[in-house]
Amino acid sequence: MTIKAASANRSVLAAILSAIITAQANAQESEIKPADLYSPKLITEMKQLHNAALSSDYAYVQLAHLCNNIGPRLSGSLQAQQAVQYVAAEMRRIGLDVRLEKVMVPHWVRGAETGELVQFAGQAPNTTHKIVLTALGGSVETPAEGLTAEVVVVDSFDHLASLGRGKVAGKVVLFNARFDKQMAAQGFALDAYGQAVAYRGAGPSAAARLGAAASLVRSVGGADYRLPHTGGFGYAGDAPKIPAAAVTAEDADLIAYLVAQGPVRLHLTLTPKTLPDVESYNVIADLKGSEHPEQVIIVSGHLDSWDLGTGALDDGAGVAVAMQAAQLIKRLGFRPKRTIRVIAWMNEENGLMGGRTYAENHKAEFANHVAAIESDLGAGHPVGFSAHINSKAFELLRPIARVLESSGAGIIRQSQNAEGADVWPLDTAGVPTLAPIQDHRTYFNYHHTAADTLDKVVPRELAENAAVVAVLAYAIASLPEPLPR
Ligand SMILES: [Zn+2]
Repeated sequence: MTIKAASANRSVLAAILSAIITAQANAQESEIKPADLYSPKLITEMKQLHNAALSSDYAYVQLAHLCNNIGPRLSGSLQAQQAVQYVAAEMRRIGLDVRLEKVMVPHWVRGAETGELVQFAGQAPNTTHKIVLTALGGSVETPAEGLTAEVVVVDSFDHLASLGRGKVAGKVVLFNARFDKQMAAQGFALDAYGQAVAYRGAGPSAAARLGAAASLVRSVGGADYRLPHTGGFGYAGDAPKIPAAAVTAEDADLIAYLVAQGPVRLHLTLTPKTLPDVESYNVIADLKGSEHPEQVIIVSGHLDSWDLGTGALDDGAGVAVAMQAAQLIKRLGFRPKRTIRVIAWMNEENGLMGGRTYAENHKAEFANHVAAIESDLGAGHPVGFSAHINSKAFELLRPIARVLESSGAGIIRQSQNAEGADVWPLDTAGVPTLAPIQDHRTYFNYHHTAADTLDKVVPRELAENAAVVAVLAYAIASLPEPLPR
């Protein structure tokens, strides 16, 4: 080694050391700075709130009432209306300022829904094969006596396009794209859902543009119990409205198997009705801030659910957790500087009219909306929270994660998208949005099915979610300054 080389190496080493020292200094600086904003009193209160949430069954009791006493809460239904009244009364009872804000919502009512294969290879004479299916929300009806047509199976939009009108017109199209169960098992169920749900959302109109008589989608979910998963979709303006349903994964496989052997004809009957829009409400309940009542932190979930189950996971749990956050803060006598606003959104599932209407009515106040939290991914154990927020504000949240660590919820993640469908319009307007990061590996097994019922919720895990939301909301509402935008 020459002297020159050694000296060059030393200067490289010096540069590395200096970089490390600078990084450490920066780390220390960013460690110290956020912590300074959290007074010892605030940290103590956050810990008390955390512990109180974990030992409270308030959220579970609320959820049980919504699911078991009231039942499914599809927009426009009597149960949805009852749920609005119930949440409003309960929030008044614990001492919040409550108002109902009007939202016009669609009123779609499920009817009969049956499917039978009436022709297929190897068929025993005079028999049919039952197909388990459910109408997608908003579907138009078939003739009362049903329709009968040959089924064509596709695995993608490209596949459908390659068939062209000649092979699709007059037929029932089955979109047979699989939900990626392995991806779900690895903790990315929402991404698996995002991939497959495209066919539920856009399939009916894509099929109708080629003249299809009806559209079926392989259920978007991970269950193996022959459960159909309903869900919303939209008819495109440039396509006829055709009946649309989801078949179970098992029945999609059955149909695909038989279609490979020869023509398969399906008799399909769906008799849902679309009634005129009705007046419904977002429930808005304020725990007023002591210093800046005009500054708002939203805690929320959506009160409407699909009609097949009782909407325990989707999203009674989110509403119950938001209710509990306010109830605990009230019960412990804490006084947040800013207003904590509980919102039970209406119509997330089939129109998003609650979120849209709130954004329309409150856009002048968005500068004072400090953050919006929504929980809408079930009630599984939370490992932390994610935030769609700028990096400076994100760093300020670290001390919150340290408090949540003791229940295994210490992870924080800066995300790239709005943290919830109802808070999406706020997010678009620049309001930071946050959500607990739930373990949702099994969420899509039950999502939008008849099996989304109270028993799927583990009381302890629901309480852990309430702890995350309560501590997060209270901390943000109590910092010396609003989160920077
Ligand atoms: Zn939901």
